[in-house]
Amino acid sequence: MTTVVNKEAQVLDLATAKSNIKAIKTEYYQIPLAEVLSDAKHGDHTHFELVVCRVFTQDGFEGVGYTYTGGTGGRAIYSLIEDDLKSSLVGQDASRIGKIWEDMLYKLHYVGRGGLLSFAMSAVDIALWDIRCKRLNQPLWQVAGGANSSTRCYAGGIDLNFSEEKLLNNIQGYLDRGFKGVKIKVGKPDYREDVARVAAVRKLIGKDIIFMVDANYSLTVETAIRFAKAIEQYDITWFEEPTIPDDYQGYARIAENTSIPLAMGENLHTVYEFNYAIQQAKLGFLQPDASNIGGITGWLKVADLAYINNLPICTHGMHELHVSLMSSQPNAGHMEVHSFPIEQYTTQPFIVDENGRAVAPNVAGTGVEFDPALVGPHLIKQS
Ligand SMILES: [Mg+2]
Repeated sequence: MTTVVNKEAQVLDLATAKSNIKAIKTEYYQIPLAEVLSDAKHGDHTHFELVVCRVFTQDGFEGVGYTYTGGTGGRAIYSLIEDDLKSSLVGQDASRIGKIWEDMLYKLHYVGRGGLLSFAMSAVDIALWDIRCKRLNQPLWQVAGGANSSTRCYAGGIDLNFSEEKLLNNIQGYLDRGFKGVKIKVGKPDYREDVARVAAVRKLIGKDIIFMVDANYSLTVETAIRFAKAIEQYDITWFEEPTIPDDYQGYARIAENTSIPLAMGENLHTVYEFNYAIQQAKLGFLQPDASNIGGITGWLKVADLAYINNLPICTHGMHELHVSLMSSQPNAGHMEVHSFPIEQYTTQPFIVDENGRAVAPNVAGTGVEFDPALVGPHLIKQS
């Protein structure tokens, strides 16, 4: 029997593809927080910055990408997209995300490696993935891997400035909203005050709620070890950023001296930093943030690194987007639901189900579209 295959019909005609980038528009917002939020190293947060990048293709697709900051640097990110990246992006095929990612990285590598460039690349990359998903008419959680459609999550407080009473009220609020995990800030001038706050929170939440602490890299290695030993009795899932993110050997020393696993990632802004951190810092959890690791492309590279090193992949910030990425991965750990409420400015509701799991949106694209009526009043400038 002879099977005839019409090979010509299977060859795509890329020359007629209409997916080239026609235009890019950038928006810069400053969005106030409902109250001042503080951590040990960055001090008071009064607002966050949002930089939105919209990519338009010849055949009518619009991709929405974005990044955010804790309050400074947003104007420079806006400028990198507008003044340095845009001219070389217009005309490129939006579907060739891998090529565009490399082009962006090495165009500005000399001045920007791991810095503001990682944020600017993220905004562009997320917009390109939004277009990819919309063109496939599939949600991001499917396109990025499809391992699951929901993910474990926890509420990440920024609460170091709260009195113990307010801290506990805030945690109770998380429990009332259905969260099965909580995280508090630590890094008080006297670590024994942190120990008392940890004890009070564990007493409030009972034994079944997952509990993490985050020092925002404020401690010396010695103090971190002393503090970790003192809170081991409170069943802490991870100790996040105990000391400066650059000191991988210091992390290893802390990890060797406590039973609490260490976590970091929000301040690792290249995939190579994650690779070295995995090799040297003895981490228990990786926390890449798609807003500063080169977008979805960078985040997925770190997720693969985590997988092959038998580590859970976690996140920092922008939970309205990360819910889809975390759901897509087989080795997902716990997603942070961050205290910067970006999701309150989007059209898609952020859902935590009755089991405390965050549910990925079932819409074509990343599922993050900003509501002009909500973000509009906070617009500072746009192209
Ligand atoms: Mg943190």
